[in-house]
Amino acid sequence: MAIDPNFERTRERVDERDGVAVWGPVEPPEKRGIHGTHVAVDFDICLADGACLEDCPVDVFEWVDTPDHPESEIKAHPTYEDQCIDCMLCVDVCPVDAIDVDPSRENRV
Ligand code: SF4
Repeated sequence: MAIDPNFERTRERVDERDGVAVWGPVEPPEKRGIHGTHVAVDFDICLADGACLEDCPVDVFEWVDTPDHPESEIKAHPTYEDQCIDCMLCVDVCPVDAIDVDPSRENRV
């Protein structure tokens, strides 16, 4: 299952982390929501492969802890999504399609 590219219509913004929106549901430890709006990572799909952190040319992502999550206990959080240059490398390299990048989404929410 890939991230829902229309999540801003189907989910509610329930929290914020490092200035980045978190879209619910969030029910730890199993449900961690989608983090980010321009650069969005579905934490419930992310398995901490790390290719996005390695390949992003402007270092948008950093690891955060998600203890006891069934897929992985760390996740790629888009802390610096405002730096994104829309190269789409992270979308291409993610092995589980956990990332969606859409610069126009911020204008729709
Ligand atoms: S689209 Fe490119 S610049 Fe933006 S977060 Fe992904 S890898 Fe980084």
